[in-house]
Order: sequence, then C-alpha cells, then structure tokens
Amino acid sequence: MLTTAELEKYKRQITIEGFGIEAQKRLKDSTALIAGVGGVGGTAALYLSVAGIGRLILTHDGDLTLPDMNRQILMSHSSIGLKRVYTARESIEKINPDVSIEVLPDKVSEENLDIILPQADVVIDCRHNFIERNILNELCVKKKKILIEAAMNDMEAYLTTIIPYRTPCLSCIYPEKPEWDYLGFNVLGAVSGTIGCLSAIEAIKVLTGLGEPLYSKLLFFDTKGMEFKKFNLHRRSDCGVCGYYNPC
Ligand SMILES: [Zn+2]
Repeated sequence: MLTTAELEKYKRQITIEGFGIEAQKRLKDSTALIAGVGGVGGTAALYLSVAGIGRLILTHDGDLTLPDMNRQILMSHSSIGLKRVYTARESIEKINPDVSIEVLPDKVSEENLDIILPQADVVIDCRHNFIERNILNELCVKKKKILIEAAMNDMEAYLTTIIPYRTPCLSCIYPEKPEWDYLGFNVLGAVSGTIGCLSAIEAIKVLTGLGEPLYSKLLFFDTKGMEFKKFNLHRRSDCGVCGYYNPC
C-alpha cells in the first residue's frame, strides 16, 4: 500500500506509460542488493532510492579515500577515511528516509551471500574485480537470482542482465577468467555515473515489468565517440556455471 505522501512524491513517474501505481507498489516491496558502493554502485543506489525502492542491501569493504572523490556522489570530503557503506547509508537516509538500508562492510563472499542473497529480488554487480564478480555470478545462478552486470573502464562501459539458466551468465560471456583484479584503472565520474543510472533503470524494469531489460543483450558504449551499441549474447552449453542444466 502506498501512502498519500508516496503517491505525491512519485507522481511524475507513476504516470509513465506501463508504470502506474502497481509498479510503484512493486518497487516499494522490493529489495535490491548492490555489490560495491563506488562510482557505479553508489549512483545505482541513489537512483533506486529516489525511485522508491523499499529496501537496499549495500556491500563494500573499503574506506573512502581522496582519489575516490572524482566519482562518489554519496560521499563528502569530510567522510574520507570512513567506511563507504555507512556514509552511503547516511546520505541516502537524508535523501529518501522511506528506504530501508542494510549495509555489509565486507567483500562479496560465499559466506555472506548465503545470508544476504535470499533476501534480494535483484542484484547489481558493481565490483571492480572478477574474483568477486565470479562468486556473485555463481551464487546468483545457483540461487536463481536476477543479476545485473554493470562495469566500466576509462571512457567505456558495459551492461547486461542475467536470468539464470535462461540468458547467458557472466561465465558464458567470459569463459576465460581475465587477469583483471586490480584497482587503479581509469575512471571518469560521469561515465561511472552513467552506467550506474542505466543499471538502476534495468533494476526498475526487472522489478516492475516495465520495458525490455537487457536479457541476452550486452550494451556497450564508448563515450569518447558517444557510440552506443547492443550485441546479442548466447549461452554456452559448456559453461562451467550454467551449462548442461535442465531444471525440469
Ligand atoms: Zn553460463
């Protein structure tokens, strides 16, 4: 049930064709798990919050540092040295106090996903390394949770939405494990913010039934030339995570 204040707050999106009061209620009743509260995940958390998501679970293990500040829209200079997830929660609570926020100041691991994943209706992967991305992908496939993969590097970004056993999982897309486990890749805040916004839109679509999510599609864009492209993706029968599976 939406309150009178909520109907007023969200009236400019409730009127979007295909959205309506039912979609707003579904958002309020939904939980999104966002793995990584950086330039991508922080932006996704912000826009899901202002859209009226009911609950967020935010995970991140690091403290805020000065070089993070070119992209951290939920953080202020005075928060440097503090845990990012707590600062993110504090900022979101000021922006939309109706959102319930649970934080986990830790990396993605099998142990913590066992506890938090069953609570999520959708998961957004914003981690900076393939070790955590692979763990998240494997557990989302195993628990049949819809996973939105959002990634960026330099001036480029990538986005796809995975339904386990129906669309290609991360391991189908990247069967070879890239040696990509480092901090320090280039980031322009406006690019990480853009892919964060797009991942929030994907989550809203998945949760409400609005529009067509990027199922079996990869959106790639290079903001240097402002080129946006969509590619078809295919499941791999030999995928080590989702291949050869027949749920029937
Ligand atoms: Zn797969």
